[in-house]
Amino acid sequence: MSHITHNQTPEQAVTARADIRKMSLEEIRLYVASVGEPAFRARQLYEWLWQKSARSFDEMTNLPKAFRQKIGESHQILSIETDKVQKSLDGTIKTRFRLHDGHRIESVLIPVPEEDRYTVCVSTQVGCSLTCKFCATGQMKRVRNLDAAEIYDQYVEVNKQCLEHFGHPLTNVVYMGMGEPLLAYSSTLESVRLLTSPEGLNISPRRITVSTAGIAKMIIRLADDEVKFNLALSLHAADDTKRNEIMPINEQNNLEALMAALRYFYHKTGNKISYEYIAFRDFNDSPEDAAKLALLCRDFPVKVNIIEYNSVPGTDFGRADEDKVNAFARILRSRDIMVTVRRSRGRDIDAACGQLANKE
Ligand code: SF4
Repeated sequence: MSHITHNQTPEQAVTARADIRKMSLEEIRLYVASVGEPAFRARQLYEWLWQKSARSFDEMTNLPKAFRQKIGESHQILSIETDKVQKSLDGTIKTRFRLHDGHRIESVLIPVPEEDRYTVCVSTQVGCSLTCKFCATGQMKRVRNLDAAEIYDQYVEVNKQCLEHFGHPLTNVVYMGMGEPLLAYSSTLESVRLLTSPEGLNISPRRITVSTAGIAKMIIRLADDEVKFNLALSLHAADDTKRNEIMPINEQNNLEALMAALRYFYHKTGNKISYEYIAFRDFNDSPEDAAKLALLCRDFPVKVNIIEYNSVPGTDFGRADEDKVNAFARILRSRDIMVTVRRSRGRDIDAACGQLANKE
């Protein structure tokens, strides 16, 4: 039976079909019962969606054909589509995806074969409402949050790429692409659930890191929700004056509030915490800055990742000199703080931190 009414164009009929991946297992159970199918079909359907990552009902070969057709008349799977793939000389692969409503987002595959580490960096919003001064995404407005399936799809698609190019599945997920994950809170948590639950992809939450620009009350909420993943704070400056200058979000979430929230998070969950610290030339790369940063590492175990900056057109920041960065790291190490210096990757394709912004 056609679902196209007199007033609808075929296109409107398509968009009117319900997005099946917005349905919980319970809702799928009710639907399956309502069309007179046996109860076990609900579990099969759910597995096709979240374990086998099906992109169409036709793929669901253990469901009767008539049932597949019936679902397709009233429901659809709104998968993301690969729009453009760029490969960097250092192996980093950036993919632009097209969402069902035409918006575009980006994900990055960061391979480190020598350490057997293959990380996907996923986006959580189209654009971003925060306005970090060094960030290309922050120069776009926030358009909308992604839904959990759109975040899940980035993992699935980039995992296929990883197998294809490196013969290895992804090992890590970082929520550090476009957008602020804690302002897309329910999609972020729901996508983690889909990636980690046994009914989903069964990835260990210890391999997932959610990164935030620093929203104290949402960090407390993560702790109260007893999340199992690691948390990264994009710190980038170790005093409020400097941090206000580059991250306006700091005006309502100063370092004292953030440290209190992180302390709470650590004591409640015991999960790993790290600081991301982009080294900007003559802004936050002095020995005094290192000493201030060391003071923020006393209350709970924390690892500091110092990141090389990639200049973004329209911003005034430069890349810190390598010698200064090394001296900065030495000061932290001398105080027994765990530090890594990350040479920026994917620079030639704008895939590095703060560079995802849909140039076209
Ligand atoms: S750094 Fe992150 S939070 Fe800040 S503007 Fe860019 S995408 Fe948004």
